[in-house]
Amino acid sequence: MAEPNAIAPKVAIYPGSFDPITFGHLDILERAVSLFDRVIVALAFNPGKNPLFSLEERKAMILEAVCNLPTVTVAEVPGLMVEFARDQGAVALIRGLRAVSDFEFEFQMALMNRKLAPRVNTVFLMPHVNYTYLNSSIVREVARFGGDVSPFVPPGVARRLLEKFASPAS
Ligand code: ADP
Repeated sequence: MAEPNAIAPKVAIYPGSFDPITFGHLDILERAVSLFDRVIVALAFNPGKNPLFSLEERKAMILEAVCNLPTVTVAEVPGLMVEFARDQGAVALIRGLRAVSDFEFEFQMALMNRKLAPRVNTVFLMPHVNYTYLNSSIVREVARFGGDVSPFVPPGVARRLLEKFASPAS
């Protein structure tokens, strides 16, 4: 392996569906911001998932939520995440680990990504214990049945969830 350039800014990619972004995602993002010079939130196109929010809506919610984090940008990534990471000169893929149940899938994914792009390391970060139960699908379910999601998501996301489930089409 060649010597890494010591003065090159350290870029990390934080990939995910963010359907929608929650305080758990933001907790991980803030930790990543403290470790890397730039962090790119990478919105994955996952054909296996049928998202509640369109890519545009998810991107708008992330941009609103990260407006106080100047080193964070948002990108839509249609292809392989490690290829995007390589194109961006990123040194790391950030993933959040909430519990042992996350581990097996994340471990497989990290090893596959290492095989595809050996220079891009997966970095696992743990959220504050308050967010270990939180994920986007639980938030969607709570909102669907009229529960209060304001403890779990930024205000702009809570508003959009309310609008989504208020409309007869959803
Ligand atoms: P994916 O479809 O890739 O799992 P998600 O948007 O669900 O996308 O999650 C993106 C990343 O954020 C994953 O690494 C996931 O483990 C992490 N994450 C999601 N919710 C939390 C949370 N509450 N605490 C810590 N990490 C989280």
